[in-house]
Amino acid sequence: MAAEKLAIIGSGPAGWTAAIYAARANLNPVVFEGAVTFENQLAGTLPLGQLNLTTEVENFPGFPEGIKGPDLMFKMREQAERYGTRIQTVDILDVDLSRRPFVLKDSDGNTTEAHAIVIATGASANYLGLASEEKFKNKGVTACAVCDGALPRYRNKPLIVIGGGDSACEEGLYLTKFASQIHLIHRRDKMTKASPIMAERLLAHPKVKPVWNSVVEEVLGDDEKGVTGVRVKNLQTGDTASLDATGMFLAIGHTPNTKFLRGQVEVDAQGFIVLKDPFRTTTSVEGVYAAGDVADSTYKQAITAAGMGCKAALDAERWLAAKSIH
Ligand code: NAP
Repeated sequence: MAAEKLAIIGSGPAGWTAAIYAARANLNPVVFEGAVTFENQLAGTLPLGQLNLTTEVENFPGFPEGIKGPDLMFKMREQAERYGTRIQTVDILDVDLSRRPFVLKDSDGNTTEAHAIVIATGASANYLGLASEEKFKNKGVTACAVCDGALPRYRNKPLIVIGGGDSACEEGLYLTKFASQIHLIHRRDKMTKASPIMAERLLAHPKVKPVWNSVVEEVLGDDEKGVTGVRVKNLQTGDTASLDATGMFLAIGHTPNTKFLRGQVEVDAQGFIVLKDPFRTTTSVEGVYAAGDVADSTYKQAITAAGMGCKAALDAERWLAAKSIH
């Protein structure tokens, strides 16, 4: 089979915007949107990216009444398809960027060659790294309130939310619909990273009780019931206490999904792809472009990811033209 002109890996705002631009530029792009698997569900890496795991999006221009995250993502996908984008619902597990055309291996066991690649694989939720947390994943420990919040085990029960950013605000507020009470555990004494409007909304809610300057030391529970609570430590006094809860929701940031590149593209200490020119989407490998959260540790917004996706498609188009690959 002939090599693809452009393969796009990832299906968040960056991936679909790259596809819309590339398709309209007659690059006939193929998008590897990710596989629908239990592992991806646990890791938060299902197709359509993080916005598909969120509720209301109020800051994406063009939607004055707001739009649901999944609706926005479906619309982007539909728009990319409308201009002829081909979509494969598989993960890319491995790439060989030392050869040209590049080689991509997917989770269905197929191999695709591509002259240019846009990497838009986003980032996935972080966990605390406790053994007890690992043990109770999906039995009360989760990083996605929107995915799991409505489950019976969380209804009318006290819940834990951890974090001090917008994700903690959003997850916490969403969970107020189900929880009897929310213990918001944060290692500082205010919502350091959250936008003031979201922090105010969360902290004003009568069900939300902040537990400042504190960290979870252990997730408590048993095989039958799953999570039954957490042991928290106050970082200022050193005191520990147990809090009853049937769920612990993590909202402590994300790690970029770059493992499958196996070091073939330069990344920084946190794993974000390094852009060779901060104004463009070029990476350490000619013909490989990066867009969205996978290459952005600063802004991490849907609209900035979409903007980067647009730039990546234009960068790829110009490079392919310069190489006379039509
Ligand atoms: P974030 O802004 O990086 O905040 C992560 C929070 O988790 C910080 O408060 C951090 O504490 C805490 N944290 C990190 N590691 C921890 C650990 N090991 N133990 C305990 N606490 C830990 O991440 P985010 O909230 O996921 O937001 C990411 C981006 O998405 C932001 O740009 C945000 O604006 C955006 N976002 C927007 C919306 C919206 O507008 N609707 C919703 C969600 C997210 P420190 O403060 O001590 O560092």
